[in-house]
Amino acid sequence: MTAREGIGLQDNSLIFLDELGHGLPLAHEGACRLLRCSDDELPALLAAARAARQRFKPGVITYSRKVFIPLTNLCRDYCGYCIFRRDPGEAGARTMTPDQVLEVAQAGEKMGCTEALFSLGDKPELAFPEMRATLRHLGYNSTLHYLEAMCERILGETSLLPHPNPGLLSAEWIARLAAVSPSMGLMLETTNTALLGPGRAHDNAPDKIPAKRLRTIEAAGMQSVPFTTGLLIGIGETREDRVDTLLAIRELHRRYGHIQEVIVQNFRAKPGIPMHDWPEPTRGEMLRTVAVARLLMPEVNLQAPPNLSAPYYDELLDAGINDWGGVSPLTPDFINPEKPWPHLAQLQSSTESRGCILRQRLPVYPEFLAAIAARPGLLGEKVQAAADREGYAGRATAA
Ligand code: SF4
Repeated sequence: MTAREGIGLQDNSLIFLDELGHGLPLAHEGACRLLRCSDDELPALLAAARAARQRFKPGVITYSRKVFIPLTNLCRDYCGYCIFRRDPGEAGARTMTPDQVLEVAQAGEKMGCTEALFSLGDKPELAFPEMRATLRHLGYNSTLHYLEAMCERILGETSLLPHPNPGLLSAEWIARLAAVSPSMGLMLETTNTALLGPGRAHDNAPDKIPAKRLRTIEAAGMQSVPFTTGLLIGIGETREDRVDTLLAIRELHRRYGHIQEVIVQNFRAKPGIPMHDWPEPTRGEMLRTVAVARLLMPEVNLQAPPNLSAPYYDELLDAGINDWGGVSPLTPDFINPEKPWPHLAQLQSSTESRGCILRQRLPVYPEFLAAIAARPGLLGEKVQAAADREGYAGRATAA
């Protein structure tokens, strides 16, 4: 059966997957149709996505060996699916000290990590006097000033490369953080503004206004900062919204060429969040979304977190991902603490079972590395020292 037959010719306007394989760009309507494909049609969709990955990065699946540094879990937003955030005084509320940051980074260094992933709440000092007092005590004017200083320390005092994920950023802050980190990230999540409405996932999350997030991603593009973004599925958006979100990312990448990675993240329900009884996206929805993301952006690195699809994460390879994301041998996934990362040896065997090899990358992907490594100063030196000749992690550690 050909892919064209497999996806169903009952509708004359269906996009033909075999033609996509020959360079025909996938547009909105076709992508929506593919997201709605039947279970019988799904194997052909997945096959087309795998073929696209094979053309892009034949036989190589990557991951980043990282430590997770939750610099502060105070946040001025209240996303309905978030288990990470805290208010000051709430059990588990925490802002790490500089010594704690260094301690985690150095422990990760000993375990072969090459990335320090900074995840933190968005501008908590704007909402909480307690955070303003903490920052004053630490000697910084804002959370971003503190983050910048910690990125600089990681860069100066360890072999790890920082990858900050601090929420919305101005052009000025992108430039400042880009001087101390080779790449950074912000999930677009969704372009659906209806989710800002009462009772929806983002109804008390001012930093989740899609236009503002798009502006941050665009500002990074204007400065050629290698950027990680993506979508979050299952938070109340429609399939059409998922396609809109992917197309918005594709358009920014078309204009600036800076999107180094797109993440497709699936919502997981958990006790203790406002959306604790919200239905999770099915495995089939996840696979369709990953496959359509691959077909919409055949030459962009595509990641889906394996811990959020365990024990079925092998299937993500079948849908066209070429990266497992950041995987830590040391620190838990603080964003989804109930979902431990699979052991790296398991990821390796899953990868090899699909005929691919697993390679350790840096937080900045190989194709974006040369421009950063060429910069004068500490960042360029550290990136050069961290990379091998092909741009992967030079100190790659056996899984
Ligand atoms: S998802 Fe991010 S922005 Fe939203 S509440 Fe959690 S930490 Fe804050």
